[in-house]
Amino acid sequence: MQINVLDIIEGTSVDGPGLRTAIYLAGCTHGCKGCHNPQSWDENGGNPTSLETLIQIVKGNDFDVTISGGDPFLHPEQLAELCRHIKTQTGKNIWCYTGYTWQQICNSAKLSEPLKWIDVVVDGPFIEALRNPELLFRGSSNQRLIDVSKSLSTGTISEWLNPFE
Ligand code: SF4
Repeated sequence: MQINVLDIIEGTSVDGPGLRTAIYLAGCTHGCKGCHNPQSWDENGGNPTSLETLIQIVKGNDFDVTISGGDPFLHPEQLAELCRHIKTQTGKNIWCYTGYTWQQICNSAKLSEPLKWIDVVVDGPFIEALRNPELLFRGSSNQRLIDVSKSLSTGTISEWLNPFE
């Protein structure tokens, strides 16, 4: 499987807690006004990269993992495969950013497939009017840091609790 990858940063601290390997996937259709990275919208952008290469990079350090974009949920089958391999082969904590809301993901069998392997979803489009640079790990106040397993087991959104606060 080839995945169009815009960038990979090993050791970032801005896309989730601790140091993480951030993988940015190409393609997004949300068109948020004020998007920080409109160059990421083209799903044919970036470099086609094999699943094996991505797994080797993730395995090559002690960092947890964040998948961002673009919107990684634009290709949910790819995302599910990537997250499944990372989780089953490394057990690492996985955060994933998306422009879809939690409700949209849960209402779609296709979109919800990757949730099996993701620990935290940062959901929703960037809304310029709600932009707040003080927010932790997100750009606008509509976006939530959602604890996936707790939210799925209780049926209500459970936000990620920062263990360092
Ligand atoms: S979801 Fe993210 S990448 Fe997509 S348009 Fe909105 S801010 Fe930009």
